[in-house]
Amino acid sequence: MSRIAYVNGRYMRHDLAHVHVEDRGYQFSDGVYEVAAVYGGRVIDEEPHLDRLERSLRELRMDLPIPRNALKLVTREVLRRNRVRDGMVYLQVTRGAATRDHPFPEDAEGAVVLTARPVQWPETAAADRGAEVVSIPDGRWGRCDVKSVSLLPNVLAKQDAREQGAYEAWFIDPQGRVTEGSSTNAWIVDDAGRVVTRDLESNILGGITRQTVLRLAREAGIGVDERPFTLTEAQAAPEAFLTSTTSFVRAIVRIDGQPVGTGEPGPVTLRLRDLYLSYCRGGRTNR
Ligand code: PMP
Repeated sequence: MSRIAYVNGRYMRHDLAHVHVEDRGYQFSDGVYEVAAVYGGRVIDEEPHLDRLERSLRELRMDLPIPRNALKLVTREVLRRNRVRDGMVYLQVTRGAATRDHPFPEDAEGAVVLTARPVQWPETAAADRGAEVVSIPDGRWGRCDVKSVSLLPNVLAKQDAREQGAYEAWFIDPQGRVTEGSSTNAWIVDDAGRVVTRDLESNILGGITRQTVLRLAREAGIGVDERPFTLTEAQAAPEAFLTSTTSFVRAIVRIDGQPVGTGEPGPVTLRLRDLYLSYCRGGRTNR
């Protein structure tokens, strides 16, 4: 079965799907995107993902080129045509094709692309051996709250991590504090068993998984603090973990080669991971 992509109103064979050479996403990174997980046929946290997409677009002074409900129907159709029950859907909106010039074009129509592919999601906590992270200075722009397709610093950071045998890179701000991972949000557990993750005021992406895990933690009576933490604090913490749409909740067992806590995934992390997995299985939504 060949994969199918949605490109500007058409369903096309994935291997033949293309956008214009002067698409502004391609030339200027003038676009935004979302990635949502599909679990048992359901799009996890679809509404919050679409809310964030619309917010990112507003920050770029763009409108959603097709109505939100139509976008949901297209998502269903892309999933159906690709036979994805467990997997991910990628959605990108750019300012479209226009003669190359920096100011917004008068007449370009936004370009919408959706793709989907199957992924075997982690099913059990036992499957999670925990991840290693390495730290790297955060040299990104000041609008990391926008989920822009401009991911070069993130790509370079992830490549650095992989070349060092690590799963993720943590960006560190000039004050020595962790901002976030190259494609994940960063968390620690403090000595009192409270979970700590950087607040949204300080230039990070508001992760949808972050938002859901914060809520699940609060509902489970786990204390939460949204505040920055330093790399040193993380290295001395009993537990650390990361969250994202495609990593779910994943324990961090080493930071820059130093073991975190016992060097094994810790109890608070595993509990949150279980809570998040049951949330994905259970079909509760954020609305
Ligand atoms: N931070 C960055 C920089 C990311 O790219 C991502 C993944 N999109 C995240 C955090 C996690 O966000 P989410 O939980 O919405 O996948």
